[in-house]
Amino acid sequence: MDEAVYQAYKRAGAIAREARDYGQSLLKPNATYLAVATAVEQRIQERGGRPAFPVNIARNHIAAHYTPTATDPLVLNSGDLVKLDVGVHINGYIADTAVTHEISTSTHTKLIQAANEALDHAIAIMKPGVPPSDIGKLVETTITGYGFKPIENLMGHSLTQYELHSGLSIPNIGAYASRRKPQEGDAIAIEPFATTGGGHVISGEGSNIFICVDSFKTHLVRDRALKQTYDRIRSAFSTLPFASRWCRPFLPHNSDLPLRRLARLGVIREYPQLREEHGGMVAQKEHTVIVTTDGCEVIT
Ligand code: MN
Ligand code: MN
Repeated sequence: MDEAVYQAYKRAGAIAREARDYGQSLLKPNATYLAVATAVEQRIQERGGRPAFPVNIARNHIAAHYTPTATDPLVLNSGDLVKLDVGVHINGYIADTAVTHEISTSTHTKLIQAANEALDHAIAIMKPGVPPSDIGKLVETTITGYGFKPIENLMGHSLTQYELHSGLSIPNIGAYASRRKPQEGDAIAIEPFATTGGGHVISGEGSNIFICVDSFKTHLVRDRALKQTYDRIRSAFSTLPFASRWCRPFLPHNSDLPLRRLARLGVIREYPQLREEHGGMVAQKEHTVIVTTDGCEVIT
């Protein structure tokens, strides 16, 4: 890996770690999702990074993909099992990290521990050439050893410049066929999910998280004002996910309507919330690593 690229990853990782830990300290009863997300994103900017995606706050049976709107009334409560997922980039080089925190109670300590330990075990065997299914198998046996299930359809992923999911997947189960194996210099996010449910997530309502879909379709945007809004969004966020609340400077009258129109035209896409199919509680832990000659370095 090029030294400048490595340094960018290291900086992104250090900022992501600090922002994640700061965010975790804000997860208290009556805190609003909006206050937590904006405080963490502000900390990222203050430290010289940029959010690689909106701060995700997902509680209980929601595994991932929710960020508050600009006027979001949602409030955290005692007993909530909260996944806080933070991404930072420096020049497009991304660090992706998440933690699970139970607010004021300790009903789900073992579930959190299962995800944490699964990640520790996965990191311990990550190296060039290791089959992703071996990592998945280890994650699976660790989590089932606690009496829980891994989520079979959520995976870790390689990261490249301005690309959050760049082709290599790290499963949370053993039964997964992949042709690609980690190589020295790869940046990879590893993220075990443990659940009290069946181990499968399905798409739910909108997340308020969008991404530009680069394609021939942009010529379908014939309305000039709408096209201008799209161009501003595309140049502000490139190929990375963004929050509807981040678009406020580009949206007249603080209306999300242009986003809905662009989504209908297929030039931007909204991520759905991912919820555990049977309503199981979900814990997640995530680190980004850089694969070395004989192992990996955790950067978050
Ligand atoms: Mn993440
Ligand atoms: Mn990730």
